[in-house]
Amino acid sequence: MRVKQALFLVGGKGTRLGSLTAATPKPLLEISPGVTFLDVLIEQFARHGFSDIILLAGHMAEQFQSRYHLRQHGGATMTVVCEPEPAGTGGALHAARDYLDDWFVMSNGDSYFDINLRSLTKPPVAGTIGRLALRNEKNVSRFGTVQVQGPRVTAFREKQAHIEGGGLINAGVYLLNRSVLDAIPPICSLERDVFPGLARARQLEGQVFDGYFLDMGLPDTYQLATLEMPARRQRPVAFFDRDGVLNQDHGYTHRVADLAWIKGAREAILLLNEAGYLVIVVTNQGGIGLGHYGLADMQAFHDRMQNDLANDGAHIDAFYHCPYHPNATTADYRHSNHPDRKPNPGMILRALDEWPVRLAGSFLIGDRDSDAMAAARAGIPGYLFDGVDVLATVSRILQDQKR
Ligand SMILES: [Mg+2]
Repeated sequence: MRVKQALFLVGGKGTRLGSLTAATPKPLLEISPGVTFLDVLIEQFARHGFSDIILLAGHMAEQFQSRYHLRQHGGATMTVVCEPEPAGTGGALHAARDYLDDWFVMSNGDSYFDINLRSLTKPPVAGTIGRLALRNEKNVSRFGTVQVQGPRVTAFREKQAHIEGGGLINAGVYLLNRSVLDAIPPICSLERDVFPGLARARQLEGQVFDGYFLDMGLPDTYQLATLEMPARRQRPVAFFDRDGVLNQDHGYTHRVADLAWIKGAREAILLLNEAGYLVIVVTNQGGIGLGHYGLADMQAFHDRMQNDLANDGAHIDAFYHCPYHPNATTADYRHSNHPDRKPNPGMILRALDEWPVRLAGSFLIGDRDSDAMAAARAGIPGYLFDGVDVLATVSRILQDQKR
């Protein structure tokens, strides 16, 4: 199961932000020049492989339409759905019922929770209809709390003045099954009217995450978003060569049936996902230029890798490939020394330019000298995989970085 659809609730009026939202809906306020708060949320979901993103709009919906409707953002196709009138979070979902996949993620459009979304969307146990992302909050006076037992949510509690040691609260990001609609009247709140019943029916899971959280709904917290989020977007990158590091290298490996993961590779990617790294594959694919296989074969291979990883709660943020080869059979792909073909650093340099990257901590792992050379030419450390266990290699690199 690999969930590909995400919905953002962006219909709120944002009245607590006063004059800031007089002419601009809350999620479209900028956190840095040209970058809206919503852009950062979309970037987060798109890099986790959500390719279908729906904005549930209401108030000032036309601004969302002109900026996003039917456009591509980071590989995701955007759709804006307008609610005829405000009908609560359940009502917003109801308005989008004709668009929904079997499983999707729903998120508030005015809060940012920096978590591994693939962990939230791991296959749930049979009978589950939803899974809530939860977080620990020391001061619960502003929030209702959530009771859990193992993976299950058992109850919701009203706001209380104080709970010793704090409590678990709903972070506003949910994995949901389409059948949740059976329980939703046209106007309602999911949180107040729907989730408590699902919890009683033992159909609701909760998963605790400890990522950075920011709700930008108050003048102070919006201010904080402009101060903190530009730096929060920047992440170190773990670059991987593909064949011989992530999967067994059979020589021009391209058939889905030939995908054999190398020991520790999936676990290493999960570790890096959880640690907040971008994971980017840079792979020479001269086999395409040589006519051994086509682009679609490679894409099917990568798709299968992502499906396998999704079952582990992991993902690869991006693949860069170089189809050029000096002896390519077609002129389009024939190039004596293409800047993308390792040992040249073109793919790495392009990724560093296209992603919000923090160079400090970034590195590459390959199995050939040409990989290490490409890393050196791009100005990042390169490590040769010893062929034993990718998780051990990555763990060692992360340990060294902490020193
Ligand atoms: Mg290799």
